[in-house]
Order: sequence, then C-alpha cells, then structure tokens
Amino acid sequence: MRATRPGRHLWRPYTQMKSAAAPLEAVATWGSRIVLADGRELVDGIASWWTAVHGYNHPHIARAVADQLARMPHVMFGGLTHAPAERLAARLAALLPGDLDHVFLVDSGSVAVEVALKMAAQLWLNRGVTGRTRVLAFRGGYHGDTMGAMSVCDPDEGMHRRFGAYLPRQVFCDLPHTAEQAAALDAALARHRDALAAVIVEPLVQGAGGMVMHDPEVLATIARLARRHGLPLICDEIFTGFGRTGTLFACEQAGIVPDILCLSKALTGGTMALAATVATAEIFDAFWSDDPAAALMHGPTFMANPLACAAANASLDLFEREPRLDQARAIAGRLRDGLAPLARLPGVRDVRVLGAIGAVQFARAPDLAALKADLVARGVWVRPFGDIVYLTPALTIGADDLDHLLSALGRSVAETLRSAQLS
Ligand SMILES: *Cc1c(COP(=O)(O)O)cnc(C)c1O
Repeated sequence: MRATRPGRHLWRPYTQMKSAAAPLEAVATWGSRIVLADGRELVDGIASWWTAVHGYNHPHIARAVADQLARMPHVMFGGLTHAPAERLAARLAALLPGDLDHVFLVDSGSVAVEVALKMAAQLWLNRGVTGRTRVLAFRGGYHGDTMGAMSVCDPDEGMHRRFGAYLPRQVFCDLPHTAEQAAALDAALARHRDALAAVIVEPLVQGAGGMVMHDPEVLATIARLARRHGLPLICDEIFTGFGRTGTLFACEQAGIVPDILCLSKALTGGTMALAATVATAEIFDAFWSDDPAAALMHGPTFMANPLACAAANASLDLFEREPRLDQARAIAGRLRDGLAPLARLPGVRDVRVLGAIGAVQFARAPDLAALKADLVARGVWVRPFGDIVYLTPALTIGADDLDHLLSALGRSVAETLRSAQLS
C-alpha cells in the first residue's frame, strides 16, 4: 500500500523505500540531541553526517545567519561580491597550510569535488597539454554522488559500482601502506603519467568507504610520489576538515600541502549547505591570463550564498574562541577507552579510533535494520553501514551524552552479536 506510507512524495537517500522502516520524524534539535515528533530525544552520535561540530543550534551561528538574513539572504556571485564571502575566503586561506589561498565556494561536497577535478583537467589545457583526462584515485575511497565524483569512488566495493559504464574510467591503486604498495603506486603513476590530470585522496581516513584509517606517512608517500610525477594532489577534506581528526585539517599531520583541497561537511558548523575548493597560487596562476577561455568554467547559481558564508564565518569564530581541537583530542581518549572492550568480543573484527572518530567493524555484516532499531530504542542516533558502526559526535558533546553513546553502542553491539549466534 504505497500511497498510505508516510513520506509518499519524498524520495529517500540510499534507501530501498519498499522494505525500509519509515524514517523517524525530527521536529527540533539542541546540543547533541535530536527531538522526535513523538517526544523522544535521541543523542546524536554522528553529528548529522559529521557536520554539527559545535552541536545543534549554536546561538552564535544562529545570530550570524539571522543578521545576514535581514540584510541580504542571497545575491548572485557573477559580477558581484560581498563581505561574508570575501571574509570567509581570506580566513580559510589564513587557516589552511602553505599557499592554499584561492577559494571557490559552491553548495555541496560533491560539487566541490567536481570543481577540483575540473580545475585539474583545465589546468593542463591552460598549459597547452591535451590528453590528460584521467585521475588516479584509491580503492576504498568515497568522494561524492555526482558523476565525476562517483568516477573516483571505489569502483568495486563502493555504493556506485553499478554505474561503471556511465563513468569516466579512472586509475585505481591501493593506499601505499607497504613498500610494495608504494612501488605499485609509483609504477602506476609512471605508466599512466601522460593520461593523468591529478591524484585524489581522502587524507588519513576514508570515511563513507568504511572508516578506514591510515598513518600520516602513507599520505606523505602519496604527496611525494604525486610531486615526483608532476601531478597535482587533491586532498578531499570534506569529512576530515575542521578538527575531526584532532588537527584543524588532516593534511597537517603529514606536513604536506596539497595543490587542491576540498571542504564542506563541518564548514558551516552543520547549519547551511556550503563547500569550498581551495587551490594553491601555482594552480591559480595557470588560470590567470588575458584569454577568456582560460577562466575556470564553473559557476553554480547559489555559489557563495551569503547566509551560508555568514554561518561559516561564525563557525570559524567558534574554532578561534573555543577549544575545539582539545575537545576532539579528549573525545579520542574517551572513544579509545570506551570502545576497547568491544575489540575482545568474538565477532568484532576491529576497533579503531582517530581523533573524534571511533569505528567498530564486525567480522560479518550484521542485521543493520535490527542494529539501528536497537540503538534508537536505547535513545541513540547512529547510522551503521556495511560491517561498520561508528561514532563521530559533535566536538562539544557533554561527558554524559558521550558516556550514554558508548554504553548504548556497547550493549547494541553485544546484543547484535548474540542474536547473530542464535539465528
Ligand atoms: C560527504 C563527502 C563528500 C560529498 O559531499 P556531499 O555534500 O554529500 O555532496 C565527498 N567527499 C567526502 C570525503 C565526503 O565525506
């Protein structure tokens, strides 16, 4: 009886709507809590897909957006500029390492990745080099849902594996954890060099691909090899940016400066859709000429939306005024202690923590629907996927809420394993 199901007119993301449980209706948020229409309150363990780093409804961000709303909610960015965008770009340039100084503002992470790929492709054309149309990406990666972004996601295990025939064919390698893998990456770069426009990687942690973490040395190796072969490196910091890994940006931990860097998720503290593609002076210079065709050929209607820029500026104020990175490191300690006992359970393959990211990997994919329902029954909002259940709470989460998340998760994981044994 399709017509009588709630949400009849809304198409849900990544959900088989025929069999999935109906979505829960949220009516309000505050702190680390989501309030449901039936009055229940859930502690949010994943900060609305990693965005709400300051918790929900932070008054400083709310005020900044309200002030901007009264003055100028939106104005087109072609031929016009405005203080919220100018200020945000200058502040991002100052915060990012090296000379990542040139900021292109768009409205979603996937589009920021599209712009990064287009920048890399056009960079070569502007230099008079043709034929460099492919990108080297890493297995296990996730870079978004649009066509170009899908093409650099994991081609075999990823959520987009059925679309292979529709996508540009990219070059895939394993992350260089070992000397052999580094040699294989070096060889792939040499073999495909004249066809490659760029290398793209999620620094330190592949998020939506399974919360798979790597050491800073792995990232440093990728940066070194990309440089050796004269290829720009794109760091997709959409998940990792703004403190999630314990430093403001993940690439800092490897001491590298990518040529192009993508930001979104926590950029506005989780209040508005906004993303940025940031390039170094060297990249930008290849677009700086008297030739109109050499200009970056991109410009979304709502790019640099003033409300979103005001929210992002307010979010950066909070990073300046409040000890977010200390909070991220404290959460890392709590996650390590709280999740460690789960590593000893038979049926748990791995427990891993990096900054304010804690992941539990099952030996076999659990009954995700049952696990989700069990977590909600315990008053917790977490979204397990594949064989992973993870916590990425607001960096401001209170000790009580974090304890509640950890104990509920521990009980749910144990319960899931127990019923898997019984079945
Ligand atoms: C979420 C994410 C994206 C896509 O961002 P959207 O805003 O969902 O389009 C791209 N890359 C990474 C690493 C992400 O985590």
